[in-house]
Amino acid sequence: MLELENISYKTQEKTILKDISLKFIPGHRYALIGTNGAGKSTIGYLIMGLDGYKPTTGRILLDGKDITNSSVTERAKLGITLMWQEPARFDGMTIETYLTLGGKLPAQKSEIIEALEFVGLNPNIYLKRFVDKTLSGGERKRVELASILLIKPKYVILDEPDSGIDLMSLNIINDIVNYIAQYGGTPIIITHREEMAYNTDYGYLICSGKILMHGPINNVITAFRNSCEACNHPNIPIP
Ligand code: ADP
Ligand code: MG
Ligand code: MG
Repeated sequence: MLELENISYKTQEKTILKDISLKFIPGHRYALIGTNGAGKSTIGYLIMGLDGYKPTTGRILLDGKDITNSSVTERAKLGITLMWQEPARFDGMTIETYLTLGGKLPAQKSEIIEALEFVGLNPNIYLKRFVDKTLSGGERKRVELASILLIKPKYVILDEPDSGIDLMSLNIINDIVNYIAQYGGTPIIITHREEMAYNTDYGYLICSGKILMHGPINNVITAFRNSCEACNHPNIPIP
């Protein structure tokens, strides 16, 4: 289990997260849902332990072990992965190389081909393409999704996985979430769109850096739909 315990996060100017406690239990699929600026990506960065993202207070625990001060690399080795809202570029590296290098062991070519097909990229075209600016944002996102299929991380944080890609990709993202659940991983979808949360079972509604409510995803989606723009005064009672 991955746990955030009373996490707050302040920069010099601003309190971004206030007393956030979250639990991600294997066997479930999670959504962190909230409007733009709620603090969702910041939660993802803190879980991953990116530079500059150390909680001001609180702890992050993985199977009871305190990882609050662990490096990104250590967390990655422990099986935590973040798929960025803005996908990365690696100038001068082909997709084939990028996908070969991702996991603990180099991926086999046949597995890479299978992963590319899964995300709707024709291997004949894409194996030799470069992970650089010649790929569209959507194509890069698909390459990252393919890398998740190959690495099989325990906890996969997908930050706005649908941003910048076409409509068809929603199906691909759902397939990937199913795939993660099937190999025993725990998908965590960060989103501001309720459609993206339908394929999860437990939700946390994030508003202005706080958890407004959590529970079965349908309840959380209803609360999200009914909460006001600023999210401070939801129109329905919080259970
Ligand atoms: P979301 O992903 O839900 O859209 P973010 O986590 O990106 O929200 O941001 C939450 C809030 O914190 C926003 O108001 C954003 O402008 C602010 N913010 C994020 N990072 C920083 C930072 N490093 N310094 C100051 N403000 C920040
Ligand atoms: Mg945002
Ligand atoms: Mg964000």
